[in-house]
Amino acid sequence: MSTQVESNVRRVDAAPQPMLAGEKSPAEMFLVKLFAVIPALALAAAVPPAWGWGLGWVDVGLVAFFYSLTCLGVTIGFHRYFTHGAFKATRALRITLAVLGSTAMQGPIIGWVADHRRHHAYADREGDPHSPWLFGTSARALAKGFWHAHMGWMFRRELTNAARFAPDLLTDPDIQRVNRWFPALTAGTLLAPALAGGLITWSWWGALTAFFWAGLVRVALLHHVTWSVNSICHMIGDRPFTARDKSANFRPPAILSMGESWHNSHHADPTCARHGVRRGQIDISARLIRVFEKLGWATNVRWPRPERLARNLRSTTS
Ligand SMILES: [Zn+2]
Ligand SMILES: [Zn+2]
Repeated sequence: MSTQVESNVRRVDAAPQPMLAGEKSPAEMFLVKLFAVIPALALAAAVPPAWGWGLGWVDVGLVAFFYSLTCLGVTIGFHRYFTHGAFKATRALRITLAVLGSTAMQGPIIGWVADHRRHHAYADREGDPHSPWLFGTSARALAKGFWHAHMGWMFRRELTNAARFAPDLLTDPDIQRVNRWFPALTAGTLLAPALAGGLITWSWWGALTAFFWAGLVRVALLHHVTWSVNSICHMIGDRPFTARDKSANFRPPAILSMGESWHNSHHADPTCARHGVRRGQIDISARLIRVFEKLGWATNVRWPRPERLARNLRSTTS
């Protein structure tokens, strides 16, 4: 990350805290949970009838494998490394992370990073591309806000200015190349599970079920986990750290999101390599960054600093 962008993030981070928008009513809480849970239950309900003919252990293994690769590409790569510069990486790791993140079908890398830097620069204020708090605090406004923050924002035509928010990536030939490869990587992320499933089971049917579960369903699952950080983690959860926005730590998706749901901690200290900074807060991405550090692939890792944590901690919480 360029010093210009870095200082921009830091300066905004230190800005005075604006007025918050109040507390959610039980009705609003109910709506948020309803939207988050029902589709997932529908998917889970499809599993038992499919088991044995349209879904098997090979598919499950491929889902876990491809989910982990793409998720870590987004969390360690697109997010902690490229957006926030939480560590420095060797060229090989840098390119690998850019490629893996690009297989998540969340858009090309430069646009992703520019959007997310804009999110931090304007978090939960006018200018934030995906805040759930832009429409008000009534049940109706929050339902609209949840939809907007979760996925509605992507259907707007506005384009984040990459020249302003991601100048460091625009001038990097490796990243430019990966950015251009996005359509091919998208095809690859759907076809690779099909190929693997077909070869392992040596059948067209195995290729088809792997394509469905480890291709399509896996991408959809990661989409919703990532989007939940934008929507749910700006609405529900604990706020142990002072941040100038509504970001919150929400435990349930901590494992599936590979540590990204400790989102209040992240907004309080955006360039930190570990989001689950407190005891018992599982952060798989941070653990892997530690492995990269030990292997010498990652250097200058910004691990949590006790004095900064203490300064940002709210006095009223444990
Ligand atoms: Zn956020
Ligand atoms: Zn971030």
